[in-house]
Amino acid sequence: CALPISLVATWATAGLAMSRQARLARLRGAARRLVRAEAGGADRGPEHPLPSHSPALDVLEESLSELDVRVRRQVKDLAKQSRNLMSLIDSLDSPVLATGGDNAVLLCNRAAQDLLGLPADKLIGRDVRLLFTRREVLEMHERARAGEVRRGQVRLTTPGGSRTFQVSATPLPAAWGEGVFGAILVMRDVTELAQAVTVKTDFVANASHELRTPVAALKAAVETLLDGADDEPAMRRRMLEVCGKHILRLEEMVRDLMDLSRLESPDMPVNIGEVDLRDLVEAMHLSFEPACKQRSLRLEFSVEPGLDTVRGDPKLLGLILRNLIDNATKYAYEKTAIVIRITRVDGEGGPMLRLEVTDRGVGIPLAQQERVFERFYQVDPARTGVTSKRGTGLGLAIVKHATKALGGRVGLTSVWGEGTTVWAETPIAPEPSGDQDAQGVAADDDRPLLP
Ligand code: ATP
Ligand code: MG
Repeated sequence: CALPISLVATWATAGLAMSRQARLARLRGAARRLVRAEAGGADRGPEHPLPSHSPALDVLEESLSELDVRVRRQVKDLAKQSRNLMSLIDSLDSPVLATGGDNAVLLCNRAAQDLLGLPADKLIGRDVRLLFTRREVLEMHERARAGEVRRGQVRLTTPGGSRTFQVSATPLPAAWGEGVFGAILVMRDVTELAQAVTVKTDFVANASHELRTPVAALKAAVETLLDGADDEPAMRRRMLEVCGKHILRLEEMVRDLMDLSRLESPDMPVNIGEVDLRDLVEAMHLSFEPACKQRSLRLEFSVEPGLDTVRGDPKLLGLILRNLIDNATKYAYEKTAIVIRITRVDGEGGPMLRLEVTDRGVGIPLAQQERVFERFYQVDPARTGVTSKRGTGLGLAIVKHATKALGGRVGLTSVWGEGTTVWAETPIAPEPSGDQDAQGVAADDDRPLLP
């Protein structure tokens, strides 16, 4: 039988209203679950059916706007965290680069931009293989992309010159789970450290080499004596002379090494006091007279008038002058004069004392003038005029460090085959005021710095 049309219409309207209610209830539930998920799922309450009288749209709107507020807050927090993280990475001295799956740079800090000489916008997205030419870096990066951690030392050319870096390449894990997405390169500048290690290794190698010569000579002389030379007076005397000469050389080397090691230590005490320059000159005269006599050399001292005493460290000044004169007596031509000038000059920070020793002698080739202040560096160990006085190459290193300890500087001018002037300038310490005096003249120590 046919139903009245009005009844069908009422049912249809009621059915439609029911299904809209149900959909709104589902939407509201979904929105609530979303909000709870955003909040960490903390307040998981029971799911209430949508009351028939409930303004479903209002509830839904409320939930969505709450969700909107939370999402916005989270986006803001994430942006803040990302900014903080970036400024943290930027503040690192070491260059940091992160690359993605296609080898393209994803992230780079300021140090990396400085190292590669490119701004961030030119680096991001660029293939890392176009940024580094050193095979070792690219190999480490490749291994890190394959999931391995690699470390190694590499020398790189930077806008500031050639530097040594300790590179660490680590895999960048994929954010969505297992596997590796890219690699992170962290590069620590270890140039100074690498240099210090080289200097130390060289020093030990050089010192052992230098010590071996006199020790070998002593051993040979003692063996000759034991083999019967002791019975022949002339031979015995010769061997004992050889022993004496090499013991002297060992003694000089040990003294030089001790001076140098003291001067290089950062807490090397500088004892400022009154330095009588006439006493200093007198001491040098006495000390070098025999050596000069042997080679018919004249020592000519010239001290600036009025400069009888200065404030400085008498031992260090003596050490500087002794080593400069010692060189001149070795490398000057026979029967020439060695001129020692002591003057006061103007420096940037005030008056300086200039000690200058000039000789007419073999000179130093231009190419080696920079290097003679290095420890153990000798232009040619065999070319000294006095064969018995073959040096070790420590004298000018001692001069440099003693001058540095006094806050001064050293330099030289030399013409190969004609002669050399080596100078050291040290600040003249100001006159003490009141009780500073007692402090300045420190107790004498047992450093064997003066001849
Ligand atoms: P040491 O001083 O330890 O006895 P050394 O004299 O050889 O040995 P330095 O005083 O450090 O060592 O000098 C380094 C090198 O510089 C010397 O070996 C020499 O070649 C060169 N040199 C230094 N002074 C002069 C000079 N006045 N004339 C020519 N060459 C010099
Ligand atoms: Mg010397």
